Amino acid sequence: MAVERETLEIDVLFVGAGPASLSGALHLAHLIDSHNKTTTQSPLHVDIAIIEKGKEVGAHSLSGAILDPRALTELVPDWRERGAPVQVDVKRDRLWWLTKKHRLVSPITPPPLSNDGHYIISLGQLVKWLAAQAEEAGVDIFPEFPGVELLCENGRVVGVRTGERGLDRHGQPKPNYEPGVDIRSKVVVLGEGVRGSLTKRLIETFHLDRGKNPQLYSIGVKELWEVPPGRLPSGTVIHTMGYPLGHRAFGGGFIYALSDTLVSIGLVIGLSYQDPLLDPHWEFQRFKAHPAIYSLLEGGQLIRYGAKCLPEGGYYSIPRPYVDGALIIGDSGGFLNSMRLKGIHLAMKSGMLAAEAIFQALLKGDYSAQQLSYYEKLLRESWVETELYKARNFHQSFERGFVFGMINAVVQMLTGGRGLKDPMPSHPGHTMMKKLSEIRRVETPSQEFVVDGRVTFDKLTDVYYSRTAHEENQPCHLRVRDLNICTERCTIEYGNPCQHFCPANVYEMVEAGDGRKSLQINASNCVHCKTCDIMDPYQIIDWVPPEGGGGPDWVRM
Ligand code: SF4
Repeated sequence: MAVERETLEIDVLFVGAGPASLSGALHLAHLIDSHNKTTTQSPLHVDIAIIEKGKEVGAHSLSGAILDPRALTELVPDWRERGAPVQVDVKRDRLWWLTKKHRLVSPITPPPLSNDGHYIISLGQLVKWLAAQAEEAGVDIFPEFPGVELLCENGRVVGVRTGERGLDRHGQPKPNYEPGVDIRSKVVVLGEGVRGSLTKRLIETFHLDRGKNPQLYSIGVKELWEVPPGRLPSGTVIHTMGYPLGHRAFGGGFIYALSDTLVSIGLVIGLSYQDPLLDPHWEFQRFKAHPAIYSLLEGGQLIRYGAKCLPEGGYYSIPRPYVDGALIIGDSGGFLNSMRLKGIHLAMKSGMLAAEAIFQALLKGDYSAQQLSYYEKLLRESWVETELYKARNFHQSFERGFVFGMINAVVQMLTGGRGLKDPMPSHPGHTMMKKLSEIRRVETPSQEFVVDGRVTFDKLTDVYYSRTAHEENQPCHLRVRDLNICTERCTIEYGNPCQHFCPANVYEMVEAGDGRKSLQINASNCVHCKTCDIMDPYQIIDWVPPEGGGGPDWVRM
């Protein structure tokens, strides 16, 4: 079907309204404003826009979250006076080692986990506030507009096509059909978050990961709780190690008190585990069932649920972040410090440095890769480089087991990040998964306890609390390239791990009626965490954005 679509011309387009894009757009608006106030030449008139797939800014933003305010202070020095939702300073850091029934409180907090001068925040609230600052500075923000295709001409990126609306599940137009819009832009900035679908294509097309370590990921599963007063003082930060993951996977838990009654709790698990039946949501339930955690939450009320992947490969995994006409920022580029468990400040700073490079490009009227490579130079000269370089071999070392990882973490702290080998080689996480026949299983975790519906929940109940909603009658946004692999090979070899690693019960093997099972995809449940795109052992799942506005509602998270 030939589609007539609208074309929009702008100067700079950011994709995804997370902390990286919002900081980048706001910083660029500031740079242009101060240039125009002081220049003796003609002023710059620059249209800056951000498109966002969520129904509002913040709806798809999820993090723990503890904020190192360094980038925020550089971006908006008077953020306190401007009412930024950054009010709960960290008052005490704790590290717990959990056994199955007990907890040991560490007498010291390792320096990377010290949060002196940092704040416990809701990322959804922070990006909402940043969006208001950006709009005040003249940036246009368009929620419910996912970027679904990069527009490329002669080897350069020239814009982004937004998603269609009103297609039915077979891809046929409904009465409310609206084609996507072609937004042509001098520079496209990809700040789509972790494993962005456009970024994935850009990296593949331009081989931006050539010579780099593979990106490594973790999944974070999180809930927000209202608890009775007196459980945890406001400003308390607890990180946990040990149970329930033990030696089976890299990761640990977190508990952050946003007030005397509001608690953010979650479990982060490295997506490089070996057991195909490991289920991050289930591990999180086991975590909450631990007596030390259960007693914090008992009698409280679950408010929100969410899950999201984190890019944890660090310094050696960052792809070349520029091509002709485009830049990569934030989690899309892997700007996260897994040793400190922090990425928001790095995402913001990467957006700001991209803005400085774009500003120079605008002054020169040159949007070539050579000109935009100035972004990489700015990164190298900034504290982003200094910070990430010190943690450059952290997550990779855990590929050789928990004990080796911990020893290497200590050596890295003593050697400025060098560790026992530099660079520490690593492999894509999905290649670490073993086949069922290679795993010696004593018992399945599900034999341990049943969820009680008070502190522990099944996946569907948690999905309800994510407030996820999608238009039901639309093409499936989880594209499985070969369903025969699911039913014929994966069932036998791996036991269909998508049923386990998806934290939203999207993938189910159901009776096909001929004695065999087939894959049912409950796409409406999807909370956009990207685990399936990352962890599928055959790499045949492509996550693409659904119709604009669909997905979770995490503004409070
Ligand atoms: Fe995450 Fe994929 Fe499940 Fe969606 S379908 S919730 S992206 S694992």
